[in-house]
Amino acid sequence: MTKFLENKLFRYLSVFLFLNSAILPIKSSSDLAAWEISNNGVLELRTKSNSNLKAYFQKANQIYGDRFWVDFPGELKNPRTIKGNGSIKEIRLGKPNNGKTRLVIEFKENTYLKPLTWRMVGLDQNRWRIKLFNPKYSFKKIGEGLVKKREGNNQANQNSNFKKKSNYDYLQLPKVKQNKFSVVIDPGHGGPDPGAIGVGGIRETDVVLEVSKIVKKLLSEKGVKARLTRKNEVDLDLPPRVYFANNMDADIFVSIHANASRGKRRDINGLETFYYRGWRGRLLAKKIQKQILRVSPGSPDRGVKQGRFYVIKNTRMPAVLVEVGFLTGRLDARRLEKATHRKRLAYAIAKGILEYLNKVG
Ligand SMILES: [Zn+2]
Repeated sequence: MTKFLENKLFRYLSVFLFLNSAILPIKSSSDLAAWEISNNGVLELRTKSNSNLKAYFQKANQIYGDRFWVDFPGELKNPRTIKGNGSIKEIRLGKPNNGKTRLVIEFKENTYLKPLTWRMVGLDQNRWRIKLFNPKYSFKKIGEGLVKKREGNNQANQNSNFKKKSNYDYLQLPKVKQNKFSVVIDPGHGGPDPGAIGVGGIRETDVVLEVSKIVKKLLSEKGVKARLTRKNEVDLDLPPRVYFANNMDADIFVSIHANASRGKRRDINGLETFYYRGWRGRLLAKKIQKQILRVSPGSPDRGVKQGRFYVIKNTRMPAVLVEVGFLTGRLDARRLEKATHRKRLAYAIAKGILEYLNKVG
């Protein structure tokens, strides 16, 4: 659960964040709008909305000190170097190749960095944050532009277009054959077992029950027979959930959960979907994972994985367990506590299910 990214440290630490970025014209201007390293060692970035960034770390060699850099789509106009202070030697803004922008932060020798713990977190569709170091000596903030600037007219328009488009998408849930399919939705935990407890006391059981109910409603509206394993705060063991689905001979089983990280780390966020066996289970997981990521920009894609959870292992039909985000994560928790986001997640899950039924059913 906390192993995220650790196996990806090779020579670089890659913090790949895949978003729904549009394909940009080759000569578009840089996606980097503003950056700032504050005196507590945190780098903040403001970019175009839903920009597709890539972050890297490389250990010092004969030529350079330890370096962290971020690549942005869009071309930088004026490459430049900015002198650092404290632990930072210098900051370079460059053009690694045409149509790209690279922000490089080079550290001084003997700066004690812990890149294994680094996580770049999307604060919003256009803002990013990563803690790079703990200043040993005083560090004076460096930056260009306003990272917290309110979006200008142009961006606001883009944003409302984005919203309109997504709302429109939601209304376009795929059609499936009426009264043909039956689906069991399983809201995780319940009753005396609240599941994960997150930032500000937000409880997994509440989040997943609400999401599940909306999924059920949306599926019903599409002529799918959808049933919940629990409708309220009751203590429901795992075997009855499985029995319910097997007995009903449901076409698919979808268990909905929210994550918590060990030690309640605020920097761990992301979505993942598990299946236990079969290409159908995997396909269902993929369809759902793709949709929930679309409504959670900036939150890492932890992928579609095989998992041995009781409810997906013992159900006889294609079955998945969805983790809709980390209640302990700074980015995810802030979203999961909002009813609008829970609704979006429900739409996304319903859409994934309907796409699957359309393809396989
Ligand atoms: Zn859970």
